[in-house]
Amino acid sequence: ANLLKKKRIAVLGARSVGKSSLIIQFTENEFVESYYPTIESIFSKSVKYNGVEYECDIIDTAGQDEYSILNSKHAIGVHGYVLVYSVASRSTFDMIQTVHDKITDFCGVNDIPCVIVGSKTDLKTSPISRQVQPNEGEKLAKENKAAWVETSAKNNVNVGKVFELCLAEIEKRSPNPQPD
Ligand code: GDP
Repeated sequence: ANLLKKKRIAVLGARSVGKSSLIIQFTENEFVESYYPTIESIFSKSVKYNGVEYECDIIDTAGQDEYSILNSKHAIGVHGYVLVYSVASRSTFDMIQTVHDKITDFCGVNDIPCVIVGSKTDLKTSPISRQVQPNEGEKLAKENKAAWVETSAKNNVNVGKVFELCLAEIEKRSPNPQPD
């Protein structure tokens, strides 16, 4: 049977880390320089992963700060999370644990399907621009049982990987064998 699996993925993180750019690069294969930052919307894309066709609904959130309260629409019915920081911004990295804690509090479990993403790696060519080292991202992900990857939406590096990792994290926790 060729079952179409629907998965809802919420993308969270501080404002301007490149959440919309990541999603638009993934779903529309383009880098939009000036996307209006406060719009919250849902993008859809079907993805074939591990021989299974997934219909992904990706929720682009307006962006969080340390004071934002997690909206229930970012948690109810959501299968997986993508938490984005910019490798060029230490404060956005520090926000990730806060957002992760809010999700796990809301969900009442401490192990959620999650990918932590360090964005804007194309800026790293200038050493001053990189404020977060890869090993810091990896360590944070490990502590939270999350996957981790660095991306550039601008240069289309590892963008598809983010959503593959997210589907992998989702499937790891809810094995749902396909009938043959
Ligand atoms: P959001 O608020 O998290 O959705 O962030 P946006 O996607 O609106 O991006 C914020 C700004 O960062 C915009 O000016 C983007 O063009 C820029 N940006 C996003 N991704 C990248 C990237 O991979 N590399 C570079 N250099 N800039 C990026």
